Amino acid sequence: MSCASKKRITKVEIEPGCITCGLCEFIAPEVFVVTDISHVKPEIDYTMYASAIEQAAQECPVQVITYKEEEQ
Ligand code: SF4
Repeated sequence: MSCASKKRITKVEIEPGCITCGLCEFIAPEVFVVTDISHVKPEIDYTMYASAIEQAAQECPVQVITYKEEEQ
């Protein structure tokens, strides 16, 4: 039986400072929409896009994408 722990992303936020580069929307268009700044789409099951959210947070040039995760 596999017991690998899975993380569940419960919240994604954009902190002030987005430079509207569009990278997060390019990486995860299901989650982010970049207009004046980046916005997180509401009503999304973030866990389905966990790896893309993590990648966007890592690659955001100004590091303003934050997310909360909890062990399942
Ligand atoms: S990757 Fe970062 S700076 Fe670029 S649009 Fe997304 S939140 Fe803004």
